[in-house]
Amino acid sequence: MIRTRFAPSPTGYMHIGNLRTALYEFLIAKSQGGKFILRIEDTDQARYVEGATDIIYKTLEMSGITHDEGPDVGGDYGPYVQSERKNDYIEYAKQLIEKGEAYYCFCTKERLESLRSEVNGESITHYDRHCLHLSKEEIENNLKNGVPFVIRQKIKDGTTTFHDEVYGDITVDNSEMEDQILIKADGYPTYNFANVIDDHLMNITHVVRGSEYLSSTPKYNLLYEAFGWEIPTYIHLPAVMKDQHNKLSKRNGDASFQDLVAKGYLPKAIINYIALLGWSPSVNQEIFTMDELIKIFDIKGLSKSPAIFDIVKLTWMNGEYIKMMPFDEFYEKAEPYLKESVRSGVDLKMLAGFIQTRIGTFRDIAEMVDFVDTLPEYSVDLYTHKKMKTNPEIAVSSLKLSIPFLKEIEEWTNENLYAKLVELAQANEMKNGQILWPVRTALSGKPTSPCGATELCVLLGKEETIKRLEKGLAMLEG
Ligand code: GLU
Repeated sequence: MIRTRFAPSPTGYMHIGNLRTALYEFLIAKSQGGKFILRIEDTDQARYVEGATDIIYKTLEMSGITHDEGPDVGGDYGPYVQSERKNDYIEYAKQLIEKGEAYYCFCTKERLESLRSEVNGESITHYDRHCLHLSKEEIENNLKNGVPFVIRQKIKDGTTTFHDEVYGDITVDNSEMEDQILIKADGYPTYNFANVIDDHLMNITHVVRGSEYLSSTPKYNLLYEAFGWEIPTYIHLPAVMKDQHNKLSKRNGDASFQDLVAKGYLPKAIINYIALLGWSPSVNQEIFTMDELIKIFDIKGLSKSPAIFDIVKLTWMNGEYIKMMPFDEFYEKAEPYLKESVRSGVDLKMLAGFIQTRIGTFRDIAEMVDFVDTLPEYSVDLYTHKKMKTNPEIAVSSLKLSIPFLKEIEEWTNENLYAKLVELAQANEMKNGQILWPVRTALSGKPTSPCGATELCVLLGKEETIKRLEKGLAMLEG
């Protein structure tokens, strides 16, 4: 059975790239009837952020990415928090020492500093294997005297080849790899060691993670080999970029799931959007429920090239989800935003009906309805509309006709008003738009409004309608 895992480090909020990794791991497992596991990688104590684990749980829950095993739900392969496995890692590292695949290193900070060199403008320490050559007695003495140590992997000579499902076969010369640290001086394992031990002990069949780990994978494979363990299937995912040149990054405060939700994006829309950020379905479709994604997901659709996070596209998709909401659910969510912006007693449900198909996020509501309580200051240029064949001059004659005409209308409904204004246009040999557009402009004072002219009349009521039309006319004539 396929087992995948999401292994976030609790270092703050979850950015969109991390969430996408979780989603693909979940979909890879679920599309094949497998299990999806959550493991908290908290061995980097310096980067630990209080409360970050709860954010991880909450984000997964809100996104509908449900784990079958994890610290909060249990399972047969626990503990699911790395710090709780601390002592096991040391035992495994000692096994490697016995096999001659790892060694104690007692080098001081100062000595390591002296090994620093510049490579491609970056300052790096390439360990010179000084401690590999210590005698048995020296090692035992040091350990007995409590000299601080780390445990290093002994990288063997030769080359390492591995297969990645996205990037293909990759071969690396082992001489490019350093004898990396497996156990740090504080007794905690490095990520590089812990991920191998954990993935093996948790029976992970498919290791899915960001492509930034691709270059370290040969080292992990040497560890699997040293232990005599089966190497998992690797699926490395292309980066999620902020733009052509920069990756999305937690450190720069880039888009996180929490921020997007706070900005009015719906979790379902976010998930749907990120599913397509680096993966193409085999069908020509963009809107998917989670169940549909589970059915259709196939790693063949994963791309090698980085994907750019496009807020405009996400906003479009969010709008599609808003349109699909049953009206009652939409109204419940929209009401607080409407109440904040509109206090004049107009029918908020009617207004909500007009805007449901027109917003990208709930945050758009305020701007869209800001004309309802108070007519904004606007320029007479708004009366010019090419397609409607109107301009300020035509608007003057048009409003002169519609104001007295509307004053006489009793049945103040959209259908009736629309029918009557169309009759008025025809009777005066005008295009419908030449009557309707000036009304729409005078009532909203904006280049776009969430509904048509006669809907605005009904929303604002007869008295306010006449008042705004008269004001428009006065402006045009002024
Ligand atoms: N803790 C690592 C991270 O947050 C996990 C990488 C992996 O999935 O192996 O990037």
